[in-house]
Amino acid sequence: MIQLYIPLNFLGVIYREIKQSLTDLDKMFGLLEREREVADRPGARELVVQGAAVRFEDVHFAYEPSRPILQGLSFEIPAGKKVAVVGPSGAGKSTLARLLYRFYDVDSGRITIDGQALSEVTQSSLRRAIGIVPQDTVLFNDTVAYNIAYGRPGASREQIEEAARAAHIHDFISATPRGYETLVGERGLKLSGGEKQRVAIARTLLKNPPLLIFDEATSALDSRNERAIQAELEAAAQNKTVLVIAHRLSTVVDAHEILVMEGGRIAERGSHAVLMEQDGLYARMWRLQQSGAET
Ligand code: ATP
Repeated sequence: MIQLYIPLNFLGVIYREIKQSLTDLDKMFGLLEREREVADRPGARELVVQGAAVRFEDVHFAYEPSRPILQGLSFEIPAGKKVAVVGPSGAGKSTLARLLYRFYDVDSGRITIDGQALSEVTQSSLRRAIGIVPQDTVLFNDTVAYNIAYGRPGASREQIEEAARAAHIHDFISATPRGYETLVGERGLKLSGGEKQRVAIARTLLKNPPLLIFDEATSALDSRNERAIQAELEAAAQNKTVLVIAHRLSTVVDAHEILVMEGGRIAERGSHAVLMEQDGLYARMWRLQQSGAET
């Protein structure tokens, strides 16, 4: 009997772990109103990453058929470059990130990484290649260590601490009575927006993926915190392919290309200098933020 019990118990543990990580991912993205319908294609291959060049090719997408969100979106992020997406609230910026992580399948067109369509590769290999620092980091009701190691299951305590140091959250964690074993989340220690974001950065640093998605927080962090987090994000992004959904235009000035989205389409595109020269929507947003920063 005991011989049977041990493997069954083991399977139970695995089942619980898989179920937990799916729940975690759902929470991370505030999903899902639409049924999860993304599945690995039979015989799907592992994604092979070379430089992690991203291409959106005429992508159309709607959460509900009656309300198109993305309407023929095409752009490229060359390997190791940063592309920034800006635009008014509801323009579809976060939707881009969700599609790149393949939380949803596109309705038409395709998204590729190093020439491989997302629909053709396994979800597990895709998600190993991508690190996300979301707008509002949801922490799981577990220890700080679990929350950081989520990026790389099986990471050692030394690796976890190294990532926390790089994200400037180690001293804070060490000062709590139970340190890395402190419970956080709804039922544990409450962290500020900035602290939560640092945990997300530590998680991403530990994972060390070739492709990064930053969904900048709209909530106001104080500007010292903001600059520190910005510096950490830049360090994490060295030599990686980056998609940044930006709310503060100061963070996009150095982007390879800036996409200005409006109503699910790209209204303007180009470098900061080119867009300023065009004197359109981007230039107006820039002037507005500059005057806001001064007051
Ligand atoms: P913000 O800057 O405010 O974060 P955004 O440009 O990132 O906005 P998205 O989150 O991509 O905007 O949303 C684009 C549109 O899709 C919005 O009109 C939103 O209401 C809608 N939308 C987002 N998520 C869902 C969902 N799960 N189901 C239905 N509609 C959704």
